[in-house]
Amino acid sequence: MYSTQMYDLGNQASPIRKLFNYGQEQAAKLGPDKVFDFTIGNPSIPLPADMTQALGEILQETEPVALHSYSVSAGHPATRTAIAEDLNARYGTNYTKDQLYLTCGAAAGLCSTFLALTTGADSEFIGMAPFFPEYRNFVETKGGKFRVVEASADFRLNLEGLAEAINEHTQAIIINSPNNPSGKVYTREELTALAQLLEDRSQAYGKPIYLITDEPYRELVYGGLEVPFIPNIYRNTLVCYSYSKVYSMPGERIGYVLVPPEIDDSQEVYKAVAGAARTQGYVCAPVLFQKFVERFPGRQMDFSPYDTNRQLLYDGLKAIGYNCVHPDGAFYMFVQAPQGDGKAFSDLAMTQNVLVVPGVGFGCPDYVRVSYCVPTDRIERALPLFRELYQASLQ
Ligand code: PLP
Repeated sequence: MYSTQMYDLGNQASPIRKLFNYGQEQAAKLGPDKVFDFTIGNPSIPLPADMTQALGEILQETEPVALHSYSVSAGHPATRTAIAEDLNARYGTNYTKDQLYLTCGAAAGLCSTFLALTTGADSEFIGMAPFFPEYRNFVETKGGKFRVVEASADFRLNLEGLAEAINEHTQAIIINSPNNPSGKVYTREELTALAQLLEDRSQAYGKPIYLITDEPYRELVYGGLEVPFIPNIYRNTLVCYSYSKVYSMPGERIGYVLVPPEIDDSQEVYKAVAGAARTQGYVCAPVLFQKFVERFPGRQMDFSPYDTNRQLLYDGLKAIGYNCVHPDGAFYMFVQAPQGDGKAFSDLAMTQNVLVVPGVGFGCPDYVRVSYCVPTDRIERALPLFRELYQASLQ
């Protein structure tokens, strides 16, 4: 016998992966220039040469047995100290290595955090549409409940909806800014209002309602926009960070959970995160990349190629008549399907080998997500097809 719940998850690739796999097959059949894949969030800006060189140096300069050995479960102390010092310099905090747990990307950090905060079958976690579809699986497979607050009209935080959804079983709220898929960056004002709501409700229920902030795109913003550091706004915040997108290395699986000392039961929650990581086999994140992050804990990258794509795609789709959310960060555009059915539009686009992700998994069935972390010429060549698709969907 086996777990049918796990079978179902393994048997059905996520819709994003399914489309991505289809795109790979089509590209092999028809040639890569005949397929317009806007599905997966695989960064397209290469790691800068000096950072690639540093990887080689780490390999050459460090004694190999020591380099490749297990680190302590939470990650090398020197790496965690480097990250803490970088955060302290940037955000005026006082973190130490003891509040950081290195993980295999944000996904492992999120799984460990959800599990750490699940106290029983009635533990609830609230996400706000549009949200990263895997949250639901991450929460439900740990035995918790995932509740969804519907999106607000402008894709900002829906605090009214959230106020209605919070109850005595709420363990945590999960947010993601810059947001995948809307590209919205939540402002200091909205986050302050969120903090007030969570503080009031924590007080009313006599227990902390934690805020989990999922931050793989923290530095990936355009036009110098401020991305507020959320633990400085709401005390009971845990951060799940990843280097996947900002350093263009999602395959290397490196990130961290930050459990600030200010949160309620901080040391216990940190240990619960460590225990959750342990039971899921997420101890000792990849050591080569721990060493890498130790050298570059907070390197600022040049995201101008994404900015070029963002403007080209946004202006091009708007000129055709599409209704798009203007993204301030990350590398996705959330586009309303002309007839209001994202799945139907994605299916139609697939017939032209234009691959976009239906919004239903993100909690917004009227929309599709277009990833623009792609070569610029793919957008240029796809815009005429987007025009045809727009016209075809209105017929
Ligand atoms: N959270 C969000 C919002 C994401 O977009 C992604 C990946 O696309 C993840 C988490 C998972 O990130 P990682 O590759 O670091 O596990």
